Amino acid sequence: MVHQEQLDLSTRADGDLHDLTQDIQSIVQKSNIQTGIAHIFNIGSTGAIGAIEFEPGLRQDLPETLRKLIPPSLEYKHEQTWHDGNGHSHLHATLLGPSLTVPVTQGKLELGTWQQIFHLECDVRPRQRRILVTIYGE
Ligand code: ZN
Repeated sequence: MVHQEQLDLSTRADGDLHDLTQDIQSIVQKSNIQTGIAHIFNIGSTGAIGAIEFEPGLRQDLPETLRKLIPPSLEYKHEQTWHDGNGHSHLHATLLGPSLTVPVTQGKLELGTWQQIFHLECDVRPRQRRILVTIYGE
């Protein structure tokens, strides 16, 4: 069986992290799937999905680490294509990736106690995000 739903998310700019765990768990419950996988995908090239311990320190550490690795202040060739000031945003999003797959066991996401599913806004302005959640299994 396959169950698919969209989550809508309003984000602030660059570095805005959301915990999606409860919303996705609700979709798993609605699907009635007991054993399978949940696939979570950010539609768009400047947002990322992943897993992290969702606590205040790491909520700052993750965006700050990305800014150190790929500084917004550097020149990126993407500017020559679009002049939209978000070359680093695309690279942050690509580095983390747009999706995550989590096992579903006994009707629940199989996550560690300190492991939550996040969405990270990487773009330089607020966005309306669509996140597609697909539950496969039986
Ligand atoms: Zn761009």
